[in-house]
Amino acid sequence: MPAAMRHRLVDDAEGVYLTMHDDPAAEPTQLIDAMSSWWAACHGHRHPALVAAAHRQIDRMPHVMFGGLTHRPAIELASRLVEITDDPLTKVFFADSGSVAVEVAIKMALQYQRGIGHPERRRLLTWRSGYHGDTFQAMSVCDPQGGMHSLWTGVLTEQVFAPAPPVIGTSADECSRYLEHLESLIDESIAAIVIEPVVQGAGGMRVHDPHLVTRLREICDRHGVVLLADEIATGFGRTGTLFATQAAGVTPDIMCVGKALTGGFMTLSAVLTTDEVAAAISSPDGGGALMHGPTFMGNPLACAVANASVGLIQDGDWRTSVPRIETELMTGLAGAKDVSHVADVRVRGAIGVIEMDHDVDMEATTQAAIDHGVWLRPFGRLIYAMPPYICTSEQIATITGAMTAAARAAGGHD
Ligand SMILES: *Cc1c(COP(=O)(O)O)cnc(C)c1O
Repeated sequence: MPAAMRHRLVDDAEGVYLTMHDDPAAEPTQLIDAMSSWWAACHGHRHPALVAAAHRQIDRMPHVMFGGLTHRPAIELASRLVEITDDPLTKVFFADSGSVAVEVAIKMALQYQRGIGHPERRRLLTWRSGYHGDTFQAMSVCDPQGGMHSLWTGVLTEQVFAPAPPVIGTSADECSRYLEHLESLIDESIAAIVIEPVVQGAGGMRVHDPHLVTRLREICDRHGVVLLADEIATGFGRTGTLFATQAAGVTPDIMCVGKALTGGFMTLSAVLTTDEVAAAISSPDGGGALMHGPTFMGNPLACAVANASVGLIQDGDWRTSVPRIETELMTGLAGAKDVSHVADVRVRGAIGVIEMDHDVDMEATTQAAIDHGVWLRPFGRLIYAMPPYICTSEQIATITGAMTAAARAAGGHD
C-alpha cells in the first residue's frame, strides 16, 4: 500500500453507488463503484435477495464448524456449483478466501500426482503476468516481477514460468510457437499448469485468445499434467461466459472460484474438482484425504448469501447485461485511444482497461475519476473497471468518461 495514497471514507454502499463522507463539514457524495469492490459485487451492493438471505441465516446459525458436521447452506451451494459447472466437476471444497482456495487447489494437484504414482511431479508451470493471491504458494505462481519474487528468493518455491501469454489478436503462427515453447518447459517435475483463463487480472489485466486455453488442455492431457484454472476473478459471467474456461470449450481438472461467489457480501471461496482427482487423493499414496481445514471454511452465513448470489447468476440477467456493457465499454473507451501516453485500450466482457505507457500517479488518476463521479483504483500502468452487471447504459457512460479523464490526468504526469 503506497504511503502517499490517502484513504477516503465510505459510509454506505447500495446498488452501484458508494456514499462517501470524507469531509464531515460537507454533504456526503455518491460515487459509482466501477471496481465492483474488486470484482466481487457483481449484482451491486446490498442486493435485496442477498440481504434477505443473510438475515434469514444470521437468525438461525451464522456459523458452525465444518468438521464432522455439515449444513444445508453448504449442501445447497455445493450442488448449485456442480450444476452450473461442466459435468466432470463434481467435488467441492469450501475455503475462506481466494488465496486459500489456490493453496487447496495446489495441494489437490500434488496429492493427485502422488496418488497416481508420480510423487516426482511437484512443481508448477505457469505463465507470466498472473496473479493468484498473497499466501506463499499462491505467490509462487504470481508474476515474478509483480509478485516481487526477488524479495523472496530462497523462501518461495521456484516454479517454472513461460512468458506472458500472447495477447488476443496475435497470429495463429505466433501462438503455436508460444505453445511449443511452453510445452518444452514440461519435464518430469511438473505436476500442474496453473492459469487464469482468458483474462489475467491483477497481474496486468491482459486478455488472451480462449483458444490458447483449449490448447493448454491438450498439452496437459499429453503429459499427464493437471490443468488448474483460477477463475476467482473471471467466474460468474465476468468475461462473457459463465466461466472463462467455457469460452475455450474445456473443463479444467481443478477450478477455483471466489470473489463474486457471495456477490461481494463476504469472503468465501470454493475449489471444484473431478471424481478422478478426488479418487487419487483418497488413495493411500495420495494421502488418503485432503487435509485442509480453515476454521471458517464453509461458513453458513457466507454459503447462504452465495446461494442467493449464484441463484441470481442462474436467473441469467447477466447474459444480456454483460454483452451490453461490453459494447458500451468499447464505444465509451474508443476516444481514450487518442489520449496522449495511452498505449492500449481493451475490453473483454464487463471489463474495460486503459493501459498507459508509464506508471500512473495513483492519487491524481483516482481524484480525476472521483471528480467524474466514479470510484476507480488504478495501479501500475492500468486504469481499469469491472462494473456491477446492474449498471445502466448511462452509468457505464459515466464510468468510461471518468476512465478517459483519469487517462488524461495520467498523461499529464510525466
Ligand atoms: C483476487 C484473486 C485471488 C486471491 O483471492 P483473495 O480472496 O484476495 O485471497 C486469487 N486469484 C485471482 C485470479 C484473483 O483475482
